[in-house]
Amino acid sequence: MQSSIGPWFKKGIQDILSCLYPRCCQGCGRKLLPGERLLCGDCFRQIPFSRNETDPCNPLASIMKARIPIQEAAALCRFTQQGVVQTLLHGLKYRKQKGNGYFLGDMAGRALRTASPFLQVDYLVPVPLHPEKLQKRGYNQSLLIAQGMNRHLQKEICEDLLLKSENRQSQTRKNRVSRWENASESFFLNPDCLQTERFHHKHFLLVDDVVTTGATSIRCCQELLKIPGSKVSFFAIAHPE
Ligand SMILES: [Zn+2]
Repeated sequence: MQSSIGPWFKKGIQDILSCLYPRCCQGCGRKLLPGERLLCGDCFRQIPFSRNETDPCNPLASIMKARIPIQEAAALCRFTQQGVVQTLLHGLKYRKQKGNGYFLGDMAGRALRTASPFLQVDYLVPVPLHPEKLQKRGYNQSLLIAQGMNRHLQKEICEDLLLKSENRQSQTRKNRVSRWENASESFFLNPDCLQTERFHHKHFLLVDDVVTTGATSIRCCQELLKIPGSKVSFFAIAHPE
């Protein structure tokens, strides 16, 4: 009896909740139709997908390869002010909308599952958060993105391999040069992870939400490249090309 009432009861509760709290598009606020997730069809079509994951000379790859010996780099979309991707990322970072991370990561994973250079990676490494920020936010948005990506890539996620140190200086108070210097001091490899040879001669895919100057991602890549025989690639959700 319980098994037949259970699903009916659950469906009824979901119907009541959807009437009381209709699912709305994060882009325009319109009520979502069945089958739509986070964004309505119109807003989804506004996402400025880069579609250049297989181009080794795409804008982000050109910037990063000029500075550091990485394998590949790409971003899922162009970052535009007031755009729908900015709205999703803002909700993810500042309004506890964790589902946005899986959603964006899921799209990234779909884009990469046919991008052969990225399929050769062994591990996904989310850009770490400062411990205080992690405690305050409750989650690392780059980890959620990596988890969404991994639905399609089926790799191992290393969330403890790369760490961010306790640097209490606010980055917002610094100029661009200072931020670079700060970034150069704040990331390091977890010594516990380096005790074994498990990570030697592996290909790491660093995962970030937005890449702007590239200082943070480059510094993280530099750390990963210290692992013997390592190769590193980079993927971000958005890049202001
Ligand atoms: Zn919409």
